[in-house]
Amino acid sequence: MLNVEGLNAWYGQAQALFEVSLSVGEGELVVIQGLNGAGKSTLLQSLIGIGPRAQGRITWQNEPIQSWPAHRRAKAGLGFVAEDRRLFTGLSVKENLWIAAPSGSSAQATPAQRFDSVMALFPQLQTMLHRPASQMSGGEQQMLALARTLMTGPRLLLLDEPCEGIAPVLVAAMRDALLQLAREGVAMLVAEQNNILAGHAQRVLVLTSGRLQTVI
Ligand code: ATP
Repeated sequence: MLNVEGLNAWYGQAQALFEVSLSVGEGELVVIQGLNGAGKSTLLQSLIGIGPRAQGRITWQNEPIQSWPAHRRAKAGLGFVAEDRRLFTGLSVKENLWIAAPSGSSAQATPAQRFDSVMALFPQLQTMLHRPASQMSGGEQQMLALARTLMTGPRLLLLDEPCEGIAPVLVAAMRDALLQLAREGVAMLVAEQNNILAGHAQRVLVLTSGRLQTVI
């Protein structure tokens, strides 16, 4: 499904990724671990097309996508949730969700169907549809950020620390939602340091100073 071969990335002269190769198959959950600064965010950002200067081969469903802009990768089924969530904080929960829904008719589900399934996955959001995102807790915002990406109907989710810095009760809800999505066949590549999903993953990859170390 997603294949990465020999990916290198640079911030100016400083190299952040060194010959990273990995793959995520249909419906697989793959976790990337690594210390702060190891390159996890850089890797995910490079895959969705918002990273720094990069070189290497990235294929998605056998098509090379490394020259594609981010919006084209997203349209092709790659969904990304950044560590900093990137919500429209002045807009309500409902507005944040609907603004992400693709308007084209090629999608498998209608925006209304997507909205319903997102609400089923995150019933907590149902109770705060009209609340501005700025008035939500960190964990609720994290749920909304994931829910917003789900409105685009992704086949592979790239998630940067989805359970980091949120209340334990919401960590459990987030973990359960992600595992439910995995059961429904959504593939995931998840950067995490806190071992919330690693135990459920098909593979755990370890990044050390920009190099992939171990495949378990
Ligand atoms: P964290 O969990 O702290 O976000 P990470 O594993 O995601 O860490 P990255 O954020 O990808 O690591 O950082 C990888 C390397 O690239 C680090 O040395 C970092 O200092 C550097 N880096 C990241 N962003 C930038 C940037 N915008 N400009 C310059 N260097 C950067």
